[in-house]
Amino acid sequence: MGYIEPAPIKDKENPFESMMSRFHIAAQHLGLNDEVYNVLKNPTKQVIVSLPVTMDDGSIKVFEGYRVIHSNILGPSKGGVRYDMGVNLDEVKALAAWMTWKCAVVDIPYGGAKGGIKCNPREMSAGEIERLTRAYTNNMIEIFGADRDIPAPDMGTGPREMAWMMDEYSRTQGMTVNAMVTGKPLVLGGSLGRTEATGRGVMVSAMAAMEKLKINPYQATAAIQGFGNVGSWAAILMEERGVSIRAISDVSGAYVNEKGIDIQKAIEHRNNNKGSLEGFDGADRIDGAELLTLDVDVLVPAAMEDVITMQNVKDIRAKLIVEGANGPTSAKADQFINEKGIMVAPDILANAGGVTVSYFEWVQNRLGYKWTAERVNRRSDRIMKEAFNTVYKISKEYDVPMRIAAYIVAIDKVAKTYSFRGGF
Ligand code: NAD
Repeated sequence: MGYIEPAPIKDKENPFESMMSRFHIAAQHLGLNDEVYNVLKNPTKQVIVSLPVTMDDGSIKVFEGYRVIHSNILGPSKGGVRYDMGVNLDEVKALAAWMTWKCAVVDIPYGGAKGGIKCNPREMSAGEIERLTRAYTNNMIEIFGADRDIPAPDMGTGPREMAWMMDEYSRTQGMTVNAMVTGKPLVLGGSLGRTEATGRGVMVSAMAAMEKLKINPYQATAAIQGFGNVGSWAAILMEERGVSIRAISDVSGAYVNEKGIDIQKAIEHRNNNKGSLEGFDGADRIDGAELLTLDVDVLVPAAMEDVITMQNVKDIRAKLIVEGANGPTSAKADQFINEKGIMVAPDILANAGGVTVSYFEWVQNRLGYKWTAERVNRRSDRIMKEAFNTVYKISKEYDVPMRIAAYIVAIDKVAKTYSFRGGF
């Protein structure tokens, strides 16, 4: 580690710097050699494409698309494709590296990648989004592939876009290649259990952490930020295991009930209300930011990045934070969380249930076979529980917080692979 410059931690962190500061600490604990450090701090491949698309009014608009492969040393790279106006290379690079660590933590044979298109899908017609998705896929023919790089949904994309990607790619290959993308509709080879997979993994991580902290789930309380796919599944599955969910939130605000929220009722309200909790009468409304500082045992940020920051970290009262979202805690806030003795099940561990079941989807596609939901859940629960225990063990062994332990597990695995494969 001789000439490695320390990764700076600034007040306003960009996601890549945030990722690098944790990577740096873990690398120092591991005594990672300079060569591997320098290889891993740079993505393997960064592709930027211009995508001309005919819009419905006949005009031609040019979009910018990205795909970053951070590492493919453990196997084909894996990562979602984001459609959002905020997409930029720095963010895609950070998310790609996160995918490398996430796959390594749960020990699945994938490297990490991420993609994105700078666009606003809410202002585009289905036809325009389809043409954009096909143009992107076509430009990535040399990159994508079941054994090379496997995209998946992320913000602004879902099964519909994955179906177009699979179709476009398959046309160029002259055969159906459903294993080149995951998160597909069930009829195209999607996996049972994928929808709830991330929230389920959050629940498994929360239960495993509570066991270590000797918190009885039947006496535990939780607050969950974000009531989309991850947050609502985590809520329902934690409630099923006895946890009283005291607060939930979405963009419309936060909702709190000291007796515990009826999650099924909240989901029904959301489903009948265009996806929003607005007007939910099973709880009192409070300010969205207040949810994070409630006096509960478990806090689950499951909405977006950078919500636990220097501004609010001192007010956090939960004993356990289970990160459903990617990057909800800023690197600077980490230090205060550790000082307060709060346990964190970090994002690269806690929300890895999604990529685990994506891996199962790929395995099923390659087998030409379909697993039952029961088999998918059983196997992903086992993987999540084992990953949690490994990270916990390392955190004790190295006397480091769970987040750094998760990075140590991941980086060690990737570094060992390099030492066997060599080839610099
Ligand atoms: P989603 O779009 O289904 O839900 C997001 C939820 O967050 C919505 O309820 C939205 O209203 C709410 N939200 C947005 N801004 C908010 C704010 N400021 N305060 C409170 N709530 C807010 O998204 P999702 O798939 O559930 O993903 C949530 C997070 O989990 C993201 O960080 C995502 O990257 C991460 N993640 C998702 C998966 C997955 O499989 N879906 C896997 C790994 C990580």
